[in-house]
Amino acid sequence: MPDKIVIRGARQHNLKNIDVEIPRDRLVVLTGVSGSGKSSLAFNTIYAEGQRRYVESLSAYARQFLEQMERPDVDAIEGLSPAIAIEQGGANRSPRSTVGTLTEIYDYLRLLFARVGKPHCPECGGEIAAQAIEEIVDRLRAFPAGTRLTILAPVAVNKKGDLREELDALATAGFARVRIDGEIHVLGEETAPKKSAVHGVELVVDRLALREGIEKRLADSLEIASRAGREIVQVEVLPPGAEKGEELVFSRKSLCVRCGVSFPEPTPRLFSFNSPEGACPDCGGLGRRLDESKAADGDADEMDAPVCPACNGARLKKEALHVLIAGKNIADVAAAPIGAALDFFTAVELSPRDRQIAERILTEITGRLGFLAEVGVDYLSLGRPSATLSGGEIQRVRLATEIGSGLTGILYVLDEPSIGLHPRDNRRLLALLRRLKDLGNSVLVVEHDREAILTADHVIDMGPGAGVAGGAVVAQGTPREIMESEGSLTGGYLSGRLEIPLPERRRRGSGKTLALRGAREHNLKGIDVELPLGAMTCVTGVSGSGKSSLVIDTLYKALAARLGGAKARPGAHDKIAGWDNFDNVVSIDQSPIGRTPRSNPATYTELFPHVRELFAQLPEARMRGFGAGRFSFNARGGRCEACQGEGVVRIEMHFLPDAFVPCAVCRGRRYNRETLEILYKGRSIADVLDLTVNEALEFLGNFPALRRKLETLRDVGMGYVRLGQPATTLSGGEAQRVKLARELSKRSTGRTLYILDEPTTGLHFDDIKKLLDVLNRLADAGNTVLVIEHNLDMIKAADFVLDLGPEGGSAGGEVVAFGTPEEVALVEKSYTGRYLRPLLAGK
Ligand code: ADP
Ligand code: ADP
Ligand code: ZN
Ligand code: ZN
Repeated sequence: MPDKIVIRGARQHNLKNIDVEIPRDRLVVLTGVSGSGKSSLAFNTIYAEGQRRYVESLSAYARQFLEQMERPDVDAIEGLSPAIAIEQGGANRSPRSTVGTLTEIYDYLRLLFARVGKPHCPECGGEIAAQAIEEIVDRLRAFPAGTRLTILAPVAVNKKGDLREELDALATAGFARVRIDGEIHVLGEETAPKKSAVHGVELVVDRLALREGIEKRLADSLEIASRAGREIVQVEVLPPGAEKGEELVFSRKSLCVRCGVSFPEPTPRLFSFNSPEGACPDCGGLGRRLDESKAADGDADEMDAPVCPACNGARLKKEALHVLIAGKNIADVAAAPIGAALDFFTAVELSPRDRQIAERILTEITGRLGFLAEVGVDYLSLGRPSATLSGGEIQRVRLATEIGSGLTGILYVLDEPSIGLHPRDNRRLLALLRRLKDLGNSVLVVEHDREAILTADHVIDMGPGAGVAGGAVVAQGTPREIMESEGSLTGGYLSGRLEIPLPERRRRGSGKTLALRGAREHNLKGIDVELPLGAMTCVTGVSGSGKSSLVIDTLYKALAARLGGAKARPGAHDKIAGWDNFDNVVSIDQSPIGRTPRSNPATYTELFPHVRELFAQLPEARMRGFGAGRFSFNARGGRCEACQGEGVVRIEMHFLPDAFVPCAVCRGRRYNRETLEILYKGRSIADVLDLTVNEALEFLGNFPALRRKLETLRDVGMGYVRLGQPATTLSGGEAQRVKLARELSKRSTGRTLYILDEPTTGLHFDDIKKLLDVLNRLADAGNTVLVIEHNLDMIKAADFVLDLGPEGGSAGGEVVAFGTPEEVALVEKSYTGRYLRPLLAGK
């Protein structure tokens, strides 16, 4: 194997025909400002080619899609291994996907419960044990000598008809007696059972009295009976002197001897809520009473549907829920936090025989649970639906799964795994990335996090700017070499030559507050919070501490409900006061600005109508009678009809995400020929959509309405983005900044609450600086800014910090500290405080 991946002539997106060498079997960090070309190199070039080669190795069926997969624009890549991307998004939105199924741990749990779980009777709760013939013999021998035993084998239970066939078959097999509806008859002499009624028929295998030396005959008869009775033996027992006998039921298979209830052979499928063999029949295995057609759309509100009363949310049929290991059923294990499940399986006591059977399965389970705990999601449960996880959580769950799979020789490509992680947990994550590498894999990580860059074996710094001003390798080498590189922005921030400064002064707020009392959603412990208005507050805490539950699920939804419009049910709380100080609440998250290529920064920020109007006013357009509508790629008339103005055609890949390929008719231009003939200063409407924000500022900047919108886009760090870049190709961080720009370009009333969830995602130190300027502008205008954040440069620049925790899950959900960053830094039990301290030391 070569010791490096060699890329020659990479030109994808903004890459400047670059050659790059990436050491193999190393942890390599790719960094640089947002838009510099990191993803274009890591994902769109290296990973895309790795995936092409992977598909090439698949079946002929899969290969037919090869030519439709876009070939990265690159001359050659050598030394490439099969590549796997560990991504943040794209979680299965189906309510049938859970952390357990995603990690395959649930498959091992099903196997474990099938092999060593102890079935219990769903009726009486007693343990159901299959009995060996010797055990049945021992049980019968316990009766006094002289007890009369009748050994029976059920051949028909509640069966309708005259049972002629069954009775003839028994006679032919040479048996002498049967019991029909409780009465014993000699075969051939019985009165024919009524055709119209149901009957119970047992074969009489043997009749004997207990005495010394009878064991062999007893065992033989039981054996015959259990075969004839399909593993079930009935024994009528009449002790000497007794008036009435009792009837015992035994089985070599599982059956409740007390209730006679037979138990299905526990197979792994019995524990699958996605199989009719295991699923709760009332809710079909969803655990909730919801309309599955709606749930499949991934509408998060559907996750709030009422719990299924039959299974109580456990998703499984009652037989499955009555198979226990050390007193717990599989749903109990799935409902527990991963940390607790790990403790359970580490300490579980099994019989020596069960331990032998379970050993390997247990090793897999505890190993994988251990990896999940190490990536910092020990507070999640295996039963948690994937659709309710954050992007960062999904990525960490996938990372743990990959490490658990133990593959080697793979090129793993990751996008900002530090997202959603508190600095406290970051180190553990990095240790895990090193472990992935030590297993014999190459690990390529796109990352901005200081610590990640410093622990890398090799750093590649892209830049120098974004978009057309980027696309080159500025510096590469060890972290130290990057720090010493004069031309590297990253090196500048790492070495301290450059820094994000502390604010000159901190805002005290307007004096008014937004007060929330008794917040109890998810893990929140009935907490009270009081947020200062007219200031910027960072909400911090380790992953799972309750930040989203408080800010998004409760505060945002409660305010949105009161300020009108929103229908989503806010998280549980007692009271909210001070909401009437706002006239608007805006949540600016990283979800896409549109799911089709029809949406783009120009349409989303509403600057495109101005551009269309501009084109419609041109003399040539007026002469031809083209109105503004003609310049829309969403309406008939001006657009290319082959792609209906999308510029791309969607291809379903079946086993891969849908791919988009450029439209063959307009070659991606979206418009028909006549429309493209109208030129403004030599450019068509398609050319304008192809301009970056910075280029558009020069080209269109003398139109005030356009200028304002373009400037805000530039100010949020999007100067490099093309106006018409399809929403589907924007990163989460870029989408968030486009939303921010749209909000900023609206006229502010100074009475808006802005809520942002980790806005530093995808941002380099240098970008964070710009983002801070924008957020400060909002707060300076009197608005209130609430930011969920882990990035210490951001936190140190806030006016106030609200620190939640102390831990994730049930050990979190409390307010650990509240105050200015300086005040929080003094709080000993605050993890955030501890990490802030050194950054504020100079002040
Ligand atoms: P980074 O990962 O460093 O933030 P990217 O590689 O995502 O940067 O982007 C580099 C440049 O390529 C940017 O100007 C971006 O807008 C552009 N770009 C990214 N994806 C696409 C795409 N699918 N089509 C066209 N341009 C793209
Ligand atoms: P943070 O935003 O600080 O990472 P969250 O508010 O997302 O924390 O989570 C707090 C707790 O609530 C965690 O134990 C998490 O597992 C739980 N939780 C969050 N969302 C859901 C949900 N949709 N269903 C069940 N539990 C949830
Ligand atoms: Zn149910
Ligand atoms: Zn077209």
